[in-house]
Amino acid sequence: MTRQIKVGGIKIGGGFPVSIQSMTKTDTRDVPATVRQIKELEKAGCEIVRVAIKDFEAASAIKAIKRKVNLPLVADIHFDYRLALCAIENGADKIRLNPGNIYKENEIKEVVGLAKKKKIPIRVGANSGSIRNKAKGEGLRVDDIVNPVLDYIKILERMGFYDIIVSLKASDALSTIEAYKLFSKKSKYPLHLGITAAGPASTGIVKSAIGIGALLLDGIGDTIRVSLTGNPEEEVIAAKNILQALNLRNFGPEIISCPTCGRCQVDLQKIVEKIESGIGPQAISHKSQVAGIKIAIMGCEVNGPGEAKEADIGIACGKGSGVIFKKGKIVKRVKEKDIVKELLKYI
Ligand code: SF4
Repeated sequence: MTRQIKVGGIKIGGGFPVSIQSMTKTDTRDVPATVRQIKELEKAGCEIVRVAIKDFEAASAIKAIKRKVNLPLVADIHFDYRLALCAIENGADKIRLNPGNIYKENEIKEVVGLAKKKKIPIRVGANSGSIRNKAKGEGLRVDDIVNPVLDYIKILERMGFYDIIVSLKASDALSTIEAYKLFSKKSKYPLHLGITAAGPASTGIVKSAIGIGALLLDGIGDTIRVSLTGNPEEEVIAAKNILQALNLRNFGPEIISCPTCGRCQVDLQKIVEKIESGIGPQAISHKSQVAGIKIAIMGCEVNGPGEAKEADIGIACGKGSGVIFKKGKIVKRVKEKDIVKELLKYI
């Protein structure tokens, strides 16, 4: 089991549920826009949010942002350790340092000293794009990511600092999986999982689901961030779907629906979309009262009754109509126009 750390009120590692993180895409200096986005992320189910700190104005803005949001705030620091000091002084709940661009021991020592005083953790966040001293003429090797992180951790430990979380992100799923696996054999610090620069939603979600999912299946990973070029709420929804598919967390009901084919005689896609947007993991707020239930929405009599009977609530559709099942028993026949309303009622 990994060591446990705390970011604001969220516990990470030590067997606590895998938490969901995201990062704002606003200019952190624009406090109203950043607060707005953090609130949207919170509504979508984000539990920890990171903001980019590119200058002192951004680091100072943490104070004003924190007054208006509930989520723990992580300051993302690169190049200048003094930004970390400023962010911590202004109330950051965690600091992410990149070992590729903040590596001088005297600078690390100052950040560690202040983090210790304020009792906040540090994420040692290595990215394949900012590795120092990579072997020349070769592609990226997993050791190139893992070893510098282990060395960095030794520096922190020598300073008596153990409130550490680690990420080792490469932009392809396979290298990322290898790096995390190798690291987890060598260290018990909790792990923040993600595929860096995974791309737009269409490919990024697949890469993230493979990379993050494979690791979580192996029991590796304590908190996750799906990185997408796009709306950050999509990152949170994808993260919720990954955790729910692995049965690690429950954010809403499981929807089982057929792909439809030439046999289908209702607009099943529309029915599923309406049910999903109302109560699925995609729904903007958690629906804990229906979390974990199985809902089958099937297009015809081929697999429909079988799946509908197995689910908690199910519908097997026919020509412009459907039969609703509850716990395996038929409870109602409904016309197509009433399917969504009636299903929601039973759900
Ligand atoms: S349940 Fe019926 S409509 Fe749906 S894919 Fe199977 S055969 Fe086609």
